[in-house]
Amino acid sequence: MSATLSALNGFRAASRAIDKYVFLRQLQHEDAGVFYRLLVNNAMEIMPYVYTPTVGEACQTYHTLPIAQQGVYITADDKGRVGEALRSRAPPSLANDLKVAVVTDGERILGLGDLGAGGMGIAEGKILLYSVCAGIRPNQCLPVCIDVGTDNKSLLEDPMYKGLRRERLRGREYDEVVEEFMSEMRSWQPRCLVQFEDFGNTNAFRILERYRHRQPCFNDDIQGTACIALAGVLSGLRTTGADLTEQRILFYGAGEAGVGIGELIAMALEKRGMSHHDAINRCYFMDSKGLVCKQRLDAPQTPKHALQPHKVAFAHDVPYEPDLLSAIDAIKPTVLIGVSTIHGAFDERVVRKMAAINPRPVIMPLSNPTSKAECTFEQAVTWTEGRVVFASGSPFPAMTYRGKTLHPAQANNAYVFPALGHAAVLAGAREVSDDAFLAAAEALSAMTTEAELAAGKLFPDFDSIREVSHDLTARVCELMERDGQGVKPAGVTDWKKYVDSQFWEPEPETPSKL
Ligand code: NAP
Ligand code: MN
Repeated sequence: MSATLSALNGFRAASRAIDKYVFLRQLQHEDAGVFYRLLVNNAMEIMPYVYTPTVGEACQTYHTLPIAQQGVYITADDKGRVGEALRSRAPPSLANDLKVAVVTDGERILGLGDLGAGGMGIAEGKILLYSVCAGIRPNQCLPVCIDVGTDNKSLLEDPMYKGLRRERLRGREYDEVVEEFMSEMRSWQPRCLVQFEDFGNTNAFRILERYRHRQPCFNDDIQGTACIALAGVLSGLRTTGADLTEQRILFYGAGEAGVGIGELIAMALEKRGMSHHDAINRCYFMDSKGLVCKQRLDAPQTPKHALQPHKVAFAHDVPYEPDLLSAIDAIKPTVLIGVSTIHGAFDERVVRKMAAINPRPVIMPLSNPTSKAECTFEQAVTWTEGRVVFASGSPFPAMTYRGKTLHPAQANNAYVFPALGHAAVLAGAREVSDDAFLAAAEALSAMTTEAELAAGKLFPDFDSIREVSHDLTARVCELMERDGQGVKPAGVTDWKKYVDSQFWEPEPETPSKL
């Protein structure tokens, strides 16, 4: 039996999801060749065990797992010598021309909150997708966790916890650590793209604004999510025959994901001829205090109603609504997007109300992992009598309803960030613009076939992720060149062929290992 097949059997034999995760991580450490071959050849089956949802559990128990660390920790104590720390801690196998770093500070891991140094798991999980989905060589990719402490009390009290035992750095001191990291990355690896991952929303928007025009970087929770969600909405509208300009979108949750999606949808509407004001007015948000509205801006003295800066543009002049049901009644949304981390928030009454006001309600419970999803696929189908257009953040099984097999779509950021990142690297982009995310969303939606749409799938099959990423990478390279953000390397005439020549494949199994 080949080593890869025997590894696949070992993976399948592991019973619990976390055991499969540990099995894979140990394989990665012991035989990277087999590990990557296994992942590339079985991406659809294995992805949920190295990435969402299992990676959430792995981050929660990170310091108790028998796994070898792949990434680099930079801690608040490294201040003043972050460059030296990066260079000395990077694994020896790392190539000189690092292409991408996924960096987290562990403050908002999936919908699980502050997991401190356990956030390393998310950086280690996401970095794999650059190789598995979008063909960047594994030794040109680096996961990083910036450990500035944690506000998670149970971690601080856990004797197994290996991160800094202190409250999170905030304010100027925190910004200085991030600034030193970004500057040192740029001088150490000038062409490396930095992906910000799972930062808390009090830092994420500010950090993105500070660096996005300075060096190639993006925030996957804000921009990658926006791209996949917009692609999902566009595909959903292809199935219902409606137009984006006719939609009213209600977001349950007004954090990084929600506001990122809202801003990109507004951009897409502006491209379709709407004014900025009208476009923004199609997106409504609820946060933990109720409907985001102008009234709350006008009464900032009441802390209960204060609005953080990222919500202000969406504070429309509409009456305040305290809960989701009353907001649906008032706004009559055609699309409902869940990015709240509140499990079960789309309950029977909410979903039935969406079904009562829309012949084909678009409902997207995007909160991850599965335990945080606003509703399940089965609930959405049952409560809408099969009329729902559905996408979730975490995977759900297909189901049979009234004799028909229905497939849930998974709005998986893996369709987007690896390809976009690879494009930025290949085109030598100085920055990654919102236009790139918009173009990628439109392109991805167009790749979904009519047959896939008819089966409820809003995205191309994940089994074809490498072809999809390949195609998307070339298209984004073209756009970056056209918009003057990137250039074709000398001697290159055709982006598709160039992407092809740069697309990493795992080593084939050597006969001695058969
Ligand atoms: P975030 O920045 O922390 O935002 C969470 C938002 O939910 C905040 O606006 C918060 O309100 C709101 N919220 C909390 N409790 C609520 C309640 N009871 N009712 C209404 N709103 C409530 O987090 P994020 O980055 O946006 O991520 C949110 C979720 O989306 C996570 O579970 C994440 O895993 C998921 N996500 C999915 C995808 C995907 O499917 N592809 C991608 C990215 C993220 P306040 O502002 O008042 O605190
Ligand atoms: Mn994330």
